[in-house]
Amino acid sequence: MSLLSGDGKFLGVEWNTWKVIGWLGNVAFFSRFFVQWYASEKQKRVVVPVAFWWLSLVGSILLLLYALFYRRDSVFIFAYAFTWIPYIRNLVIHSNSAAEELKCRACGAPSAVTARYCASCGVPIDTGKSGGAS
Ligand SMILES: [Zn+2]
Repeated sequence: MSLLSGDGKFLGVEWNTWKVIGWLGNVAFFSRFFVQWYASEKQKRVVVPVAFWWLSLVGSILLLLYALFYRRDSVFIFAYAFTWIPYIRNLVIHSNSAAEELKCRACGAPSAVTARYCASCGVPIDTGKSGGAS
């Protein structure tokens, strides 16, 4: 490996298991911004895809482990000590709302249960519920 120098450093960094865990956390944490940006560009509005919360959760847990067991730095530990709480809460909210989504008969796009028309193709949403206001 040409990037591996004679002193055992890779890319100028001395590697060990904790360094790998810390860097995996960095990669997960950093990539979530691009995942979110890509999703927003694709939908032409600001959206936060569920992958953003998963990457946030995985990244923050890996960085917390790194901070707790390798760096033992109170500033670093505090930075990641509580961030997993909103990430998990957002994942729970997402899974609850996903269960309540309806799929459009015409195009298959998901719609909220409260929607009357498909946001994607405009076809009236068949809620499957009898009655209802006209
Ligand atoms: Zn549709």
